[in-house]
Amino acid sequence: MSSERPRGLLLVVSSPSGAGKTTLCNRLRQEFPSIGFSVSYTTREPRPGETDGVEYHFVSGERFQEMAADDEFAEYAMVHGNMYGTAGRLVSTALADGRDILFDIDFQGGRQLRRSFPEEVVLVFILPPSLRELERRLRRRATDSDEVIAQRLKVARSELAHYDEYDFLIVNDELERAYDALRAVYVSALHRRSRQAAVAKQLIEGQEELPW
Ligand code: ADP
Ligand code: 5GP
Repeated sequence: MSSERPRGLLLVVSSPSGAGKTTLCNRLRQEFPSIGFSVSYTTREPRPGETDGVEYHFVSGERFQEMAADDEFAEYAMVHGNMYGTAGRLVSTALADGRDILFDIDFQGGRQLRRSFPEEVVLVFILPPSLRELERRLRRRATDSDEVIAQRLKVARSELAHYDEYDFLIVNDELERAYDALRAVYVSALHRRSRQAAVAKQLIEGQEELPW
C-alpha cells in the first residue's frame, strides 16, 4: 500500500517593485488561508508600519552572513543593495507536510528554488501595464524616498528582462482581472498530475479512504 502524501506547492510571485505583487499575494492569502507565506530575512531597514516577523525578519548584515554560512537559507540574493533570504527549514517542512507556500521573492530567488525543487515550484511574474504606471504606483504608495523610487525604476527594466524564466506572466492592469488570473494559476497548479498522482495510485490499489 502506498501512502505517498501529495507534496506541497511552492508558488513564487515576482515583479518589479510597485507592480502589485504584495496586493495580489495578500488577496490570495485571504481567500486561501491554508497557504503559508514565507516571511523572508532581510538586512533592509523596516519601512514605517512594518513589524519584525510580519513583513520580514529584519536582521543585521552580520547575522545574515552567519545564517548563510550555516546553510539556513533555501535561497538568498542581493536585491536593490540589501540581502534577502528564504528560511530553508520552512520550505523543507512545508513540502514534507504537504503544505503550500507563497513566496514574494525576486527572479534570483525563483531561479534558485526552481533548481532545488523543480517538481514543486510554480513561477509567476507580475507585469505592470506600463513603466509610467509603475512609477505612478510607486509614488502613490508613498513608502519610498524619491531617490529609492528612482533606483527601483532604473532596475525595473533589467528585472523585466527575466520574464522568460517564469511559467506564467500576469499583467496587473485591472486588479480584479489580474487576481482572477493568479487564482487560476494556483488552483490549476493544485491539480497537476505530479501533485495528484498519489490519489490515482490509491484508487488503483483499491483503497477506499485516503490516509490524509
Ligand atoms: P509590489 O509589492 O509589487 O511592490 P504593491 O502591491 O505594494 O507592489 O503595489 C504598489 C502600489 O500600487 C500600491 O499602492 C497598490 O495599492 C497599487 N496597486 C496594486 N495593483 C494595482 C492596480 N491593478 N491598479 C492600480 N493600483 C494598484
Ligand atoms: P522590498 O524591499 O520592496 O520589500 O522587496 C524588494 C525585493 O526583494 C522584491 O522584489 C522582493 O520580491 C524581493 N525579496 C523579498 N524577499 C526575498 C527573499 O527572501 N529572497 C529573494 N531572492 N528576494 C526577496
